[in-house]
Amino acid sequence: MNSFKYIDGTLHCEEVAIEDIASKYGTPSYIYSEREIRNNAKAYLSSLKKPGIICFSVKALSNIHILKILANEGCGFDVVSAGELQRCFEAGISGEKIIFSGVGKSEQEIALAISSDIYSINAESVSEINRISKVAGEIGKVAPLGIRINPDISIASHEYIQTGKKDDKFGIDLRDALTVIKKVLNLPNLELKGIACHIGSQISDLDFFKKAAASMLEILNETDALNINLSFIDMGGGGGITYIDEKHLDPKEIIEQIEKVLHERSELLVLEPGRSIVGNAGALVTRIEYLKSSFAIVDAGMNDLIRPALYKAKHKVVDVNLSSAKKKSLKIVGPICESGDYLSQETELNSVEGDLIAVLGAGAYGSVMSSNYNSRARAPEILVNGNEFRLIKRRESVADLLSLETSL
Ligand SMILES: *Cc1c(COP(=O)(O)O)cnc(C)c1O
Repeated sequence: MNSFKYIDGTLHCEEVAIEDIASKYGTPSYIYSEREIRNNAKAYLSSLKKPGIICFSVKALSNIHILKILANEGCGFDVVSAGELQRCFEAGISGEKIIFSGVGKSEQEIALAISSDIYSINAESVSEINRISKVAGEIGKVAPLGIRINPDISIASHEYIQTGKKDDKFGIDLRDALTVIKKVLNLPNLELKGIACHIGSQISDLDFFKKAAASMLEILNETDALNINLSFIDMGGGGGITYIDEKHLDPKEIIEQIEKVLHERSELLVLEPGRSIVGNAGALVTRIEYLKSSFAIVDAGMNDLIRPALYKAKHKVVDVNLSSAKKKSLKIVGPICESGDYLSQETELNSVEGDLIAVLGAGAYGSVMSSNYNSRARAPEILVNGNEFRLIKRRESVADLLSLETSL
């Protein structure tokens, strides 16, 4: 969170006053620090002791200008839809830097991935593997395949962001892994390149990464016995960050622990961090419209930032301008007609009506999850670099929304 700090009592992103950005582009607006995004990517890239690839999880923040910055740092990319794949291409990223994950890939998505020569399609079920083999045959190419394993590890975070338990919809059961791998070897048009796992998000205990790596090692011991050579071991993303008082996991420690477990392996280590690269590099800036008893009603709602409503996620909310006024305990709520429309249940602020406030830690799963509920146009995105800032996504207009219905 160090890129958002007060200088002379007013909140800045890097060297730019948040007020200046708000007066140019209005509110609500997403603001990101380029320096922090680069530093977070570097923290992963520079910690790899053995050969590896850091594939940014595009779903955390998919703006093409952000993808370009991360490509420039040397990142690869992990996508979960054809839309995200096309975003990567639009950003000038080539197929060999891309991994395609996700439980429900359509035939068209698989065809696009294969014909774009991506690094790996990480499959999550036997039915999907059969489909990939069939589509590859139709195109006349060999599909690069990863198998996502479900290691049955329960991480301590909100149930909606756990993905590696036996009963979650993700991956192939650890105990079935070898059977499935043998099956892949007998199917045409597939090249088995690696195994993958991703046990969930906002993980704040290194032990979970160690456990997951140990599960992967079990499978590798079995594939060794069959003389199967793999190119990569993909350990997914999930590093936790500090929103209020959660433990931030240092990328260096995550990588150290995983490399320790896998130290005898020569396969490339792949990681897919999302939140830990962009989460604390972004803020949502919003203006207080009304104060009403203990509520601050602001101009951003759950359509702009759904994490509190969806996951009961907590974000730190701060005054943009500090004042000596007495702090009030406030619930920060939006203009949407839902009682779940809140950004914070309890925040101490000294702001009054008309003042700007900032919701911190909004860089990941913020703008990408925004919607048009209540026919609200989506917020713009602004990127700060040093003492400069530029628009990287314009504010949507109601005309943009209506055009899908009027241009028939
Ligand atoms: C969402 C996701 C990630 C990124 O998770 P973070 O918690 O944001 O690091 C990585 N890999 C896969 C397969 C995912 O679905």
